[in-house]
Parts: sequence; structure tokens; C-alpha cells
Amino acid sequence: MGVRKTGARAASAVSTWGLKHIARRPAANLPGRIALKIDPSIISELTDKIEEGSIVVVGTNGKTTVTNMIADMLEAAGKSVICNRTGANMQAGIASTLLQSKPGQWGVFESDELWFSKTLPELKATYVVLLNLFRDQLDRCGEIDRIQETITQALKDSPETTLIFNADDPQCAIIAKRVPNKTIAFGVDEDLQLAQNTVVDAQMCQNCSAIMDYAYRQYGQLGDYTCPNCGFSRPAFDFAATDVTLDSSGLAFSFACVGDANAHLNGARITSSFNAAYMLYNLMAISSVACVVGCPQEALQSTIDRFDPQNGRLQEMTIQGRPMLLNLAKNPTGFNQNLKIITQAEGKKVVAFFINDNVADGHDISWIWDCDFEELASQEDIVVYAGGIRKNDLQLRLKYAGIDAKIINSVNEMVDEALKMPAEWKMYAIANYTSLPAVRSALTSREDKRPVDHPTEGTLDPERSTSHRMPEAMKDQEPLRIVHLFPDLLNLYGDGGNVKVLENRCLWRGIPVQVDTVHYGQSADLAKADIVFLGGGPDREQKLASEGLFAMKDDIKAYVENGGVLLAICGGYQILGENWLMGDESVEGLSIIDAKTLRAGKGFDRLIDNIVLESPIAKLPVVGFENHAGRTKLGKDAKPFGTVISTVGHGNDDTSGADGVVYKNTIGTYLHGPLLGKNPEIADHLIACALFNKFGKPYPLDALDDAVEVAANNYMVSRLHTRKKQA
Ligand code: GLN
Repeated sequence: MGVRKTGARAASAVSTWGLKHIARRPAANLPGRIALKIDPSIISELTDKIEEGSIVVVGTNGKTTVTNMIADMLEAAGKSVICNRTGANMQAGIASTLLQSKPGQWGVFESDELWFSKTLPELKATYVVLLNLFRDQLDRCGEIDRIQETITQALKDSPETTLIFNADDPQCAIIAKRVPNKTIAFGVDEDLQLAQNTVVDAQMCQNCSAIMDYAYRQYGQLGDYTCPNCGFSRPAFDFAATDVTLDSSGLAFSFACVGDANAHLNGARITSSFNAAYMLYNLMAISSVACVVGCPQEALQSTIDRFDPQNGRLQEMTIQGRPMLLNLAKNPTGFNQNLKIITQAEGKKVVAFFINDNVADGHDISWIWDCDFEELASQEDIVVYAGGIRKNDLQLRLKYAGIDAKIINSVNEMVDEALKMPAEWKMYAIANYTSLPAVRSALTSREDKRPVDHPTEGTLDPERSTSHRMPEAMKDQEPLRIVHLFPDLLNLYGDGGNVKVLENRCLWRGIPVQVDTVHYGQSADLAKADIVFLGGGPDREQKLASEGLFAMKDDIKAYVENGGVLLAICGGYQILGENWLMGDESVEGLSIIDAKTLRAGKGFDRLIDNIVLESPIAKLPVVGFENHAGRTKLGKDAKPFGTVISTVGHGNDDTSGADGVVYKNTIGTYLHGPLLGKNPEIADHLIACALFNKFGKPYPLDALDDAVEVAANNYMVSRLHTRKKQA
């Protein structure tokens, strides 16, 4: 053993002991971190502890579940396994696991997407399982392209590794297409006929950037896709789920080994009491591993049957006899899957959402506006609570989904409230990454340990569970027409929430309103528009949107010059200027505003942060979140939308201290969040301008109760240091 390795091991052993005995914490990361400092190649040196082979699980959703189930399955098949079961999935977590484990026949590790470029080449795993790629923590990861590049490079650096990938996800399939490694494709070979969600992370061909055609979608971008332009399509399956049944009682499928009828699992019928579509994909990933490593069907099925996650992933428990389901959800796709689990269950429900915005969650939570919380509003009996660090934002988002959510300051408060409800109410707690451990420990401390006492009848009035606000329509008026341009391309950062805010603030005042969504390829009649909205998007989507908007250039210009109301966010704002840069290529803009967008030296040098502005349009500070590579320079007479007053955040560029532009009734800004949620004065300004245009005279807007909006605004302003003291 080398001196460094010995030193690294000794130092890590001391820190493990210290954490366990003095700090009384599990030693998930620190020992590895210390050992890596002393010996940076400690992971590759410790792989000699793994005797037969290793598996690395990567992807956005499902990593911990799949990793634990693969480890359980191998153990059920009689193998000894080294595994980072707690989900410590960065380099230090994997190093800690290897340091603390006895030698084993198999190594099974989950890896964080961005750390994968370090962990895989060191582990030189036999197999990599790539589950799915959804957007998650965009403030840490930039855009999904960056994660794809990282995973592709890591596989290229580890050419002996076989890639087992989800072929239904084009974002994974393009990686399989680009790497020299042996690949094995799995997926679901039939249309599950599931209801779709509003915002999809990827619509465009990963190969040539045309809009993809789908024979069917399962959820998100998963499904049977073909690019009409370059022919990139779902790869042929090696392993497919067929004859799938999926209903509230569970799921079942037949595992088909396409082209190898003699493979040992071919035709196996796999069943589970889990009933979410995403679990079908997780189980297909695990079954595919079972097939390639030769795990018997009994080991696979018994693992699924016994799987009782105690880590907050689909964790079931009872509290005073009431069922409680706890689950992790940390991005729109995961959240939407959870909302489906809740809405599909029968009966009355108490639901609590917990959202933190710590580093591991991502500081930006605009994505909650891309989740279809509206699905909950149509439930008959539901009580919703908003918790976690960003409870105010959550309450605000739920308000615009038609749900009157109550803020809770602790998990116990939620459980106390829920227990006042009659006994048949089921409880759900959905928590994002860093909020999960505290929610889980509070819930498990109250979990029933012995036969259940029957709860007393509750006193809480179920009436207050839902709030369906019915607008009083103003008679004989043409509705205010909001045109949402290209939501299929420019809608990745919760920007569509701006349209929900405008729409609801009209409805709440009884102003008739109509939202027209114009997808790429459709034509828009701007002559009848009262408010036009353009969101932001990743470069690839923005390029295609730019082309579509360029074809409408004269109409958009005439609309703006005539005083039409237009709100454009980030990528949409950039397109309004003279040009913007896609890599090194200059893309011609609409030249409606006097601005040019350049790039910083390096593509990854993005401006990503919370931001507070002072704007002449609002009395309250304007709060938002920015995430862009482009730097916009305004012409000398152009007026910015606001001055940056937070000590973090940049706005238009690194030096000007200004954000956005105001030109006539057009506002361009870098602020996501979405902008209008926490800044209702801006929303009302746009509505007032639109009504002025419509009626030719000022139209007084009724005051609304903006306590929720103002609380969410105040909270962020109080957290961010501002250069000027706010009134
Ligand atoms: N792709 C553009 C940029 O990075 C805009 C991104 C966005 O809309 N958030 O500059």
C-alpha cells in the first residue's frame, strides 16, 4: 500500500470515528473529502476492493431508489455489495463508501451528474445505468446540454464500460449515439396513454435541432420519437417492457429480451405495488441490470416486493392510524409525477409541500411555476400546506393555481393540523432535496409504533380546503387577449407563470381574459392581441424561436410601435434586439429595441443569481432570478427596466448595473422567477396599459389582496443584501 493511500485511509478512519462518536452524524462525505485531499486517486486505488464488477447509476430522477434496489437484488442473489446507499453521490461520498466498506463482490454507486466526469473514469465501472435527464438545479448545472457533455466525455474516458440507457429518453439516447462504448437500450414498448403535462423539458431533436415528432409520449420527453429532419429516433430496444398494466393498485409488465429469446429473464412477468409511471422505468432499469449480470428472477422480484424505502422516497407510514406518504420531488418532472400520484388516489387528502433553496436544491425555484399544481385545484376535498425555506413562493404559486394554501413553519404544525381532520383524510408530504431529511425525521418520530389508537373526529372545517375563485365576468366586453408566443420553445424557467399571473389578476377583477398559445409553426394574429408574452429558453430552442419570430418581424414591430404591450424575458428579450450570439454565431434579432447581446469569453461563464432591481414602474423592489450567458448592451438612448440594487446579480451585463429595457409598452428583462409572481405591480402595470389601449382611456384597476405576493417579495428582498435601504 502506498504512503499516500495509507495516510488517506488513516485520516479518513479518524474522521469517521469522530463523526460517529463525537458529532453523532453518519460519516457520508467528510472522510472521503479528507482522503481525497491527501490522495486524489484514492477512488481508483480502492476499486481493488471490488471483486466481480461495478455499476454506476446516473440520471436526474430515481438514482437512489435504483441504486438501492440493485444492491438489494445482488445481495438477494447471494453477492456481497459495496454501495453508497444514503445518496452521498459526489466524489467524496463515493470515496467515503469505499473507505468504510469491507471488500465486496459488486460495487453499486449512484453518481451525481456533474461529478460523473470524475467518478466514472476512476471507478472504471463495468456498467453505467443512465436513467433519464430532466432539468434540475439549472443554477448549478447551466442547461441540460452541459450535463450531456459531461456524461458523454466520462463514458469516452472509460471505454470499457457498457452503457445501459433509457432509450425512451432522447436526451439519454443521444449520449448513447455519441459514445464509442457498448450500449444496451431499454424502454417501454407501448403507449401507456397517460395524461400529459404542460411544460416539457425537451421538444427538439438532440441531433439536428428540429422539432421532434412523437408517436406517443409517456411523460416528460419520454416516448417514441422520430426527428422528421435527420431521422434520429428511439433506438431499437435490447430490453422492453410489454403488456404493461398500470393502475392505482400497482403495475406489472413482461420483460422482453428483444432478439435473444433464450436470455434468462426473457418473458419474465414483473409485478409491483408501486403505481407511478416513473417506477415502471426504474424497474425496467433494474430488470435490465438483472438480465446482464445474471441475477435470478426470484432475487429481482423479491427485491421489488420487499422494497420498503426508509429514505423518504415513496416512504409509507401511519401517524395515529392515518396513512402518510412521503416522497422526494425536486424538479418539474418529479413534481408532476407526484401530483399524479396524489390526484389519482381516492378520497380526501391533506398535502404538504416543502421547498428549500439551499445549494444542493438550486437557489432558483422558478421551476415550481412549470409544475401543474392546477391539477390539485380540481380535487374535491384537499387541504394544501406550503412549507420549507421558500414557503412564501410556494404559497404564491399555489394561489395562482387556484389553491388557498396555508403556510406552515414546521412539519409538526402540519401533522397537528392534519390530525384535526376526520380520520379518513390521507396525508402526503412532498419535499425537495434538502428539506427531505428534516421532514422525514419529524414524520418518523411521530410514526405509529404500536397498534393504532383511533383518532377523534376532527374539528377543522373542510370547507376551507379549496378556493375556487369565480370571477364575476364583466358583461358585453371583448376579453383581454394575451398571446403567449412559442411556449413550446421559450418556457423553461417558469416563465409561463407570467401568463398565469396576468390571467388570474384579470379574472380576480372580473376582467374577461383569453389566453392564446401560439406554438412554433402556428401563425399569430397580433392585430387582436392586447398583451404579448415571450419567455426565455436554452440556446437551441431560442435559435428556432428566433427564426419563427423573424418570420413575424414586421407584425411584431408594428405591434410594438403602436404601443402594444409586450413582455419578453431573457432569451425572448435578447431576440428583440439587433442580434444575439449562439456560440460564435451571430443570430439576427428583430431590431425592435436598441440592444445587442454578446457573450462572455467562455460559454459556461453564465450570470446566475438572485437579483433585486429598483424600477420606476414599481414601488416595491423588483425581485427575480437570472440565468444567462448572453450580455446585453443597450444603445445610448435606450432606457433600462431597472437598476440592480442587490449585491448579487448582474442584469444586462457584468458592468452596467442595469437590467432590461423599457421601450414604449414593451418590457424586456433578464428576470425569471417568474417576474410577475412576486412583482404584482409590474403585472398590473401591463394590464393597465393593455386596458388603456383597448378603451382609449385609463381604466381603474380594483385593488387585490396581495399579501401573499408581497410576503414572497419581502422575504427575498430581506434575504438579499441591497445597496440601497428599502422603504
Ligand atoms: N440562452 C440564453 C442565454 O443563455 C437565454 C437563457 C434564458 O432564457 N434563460 O443567454
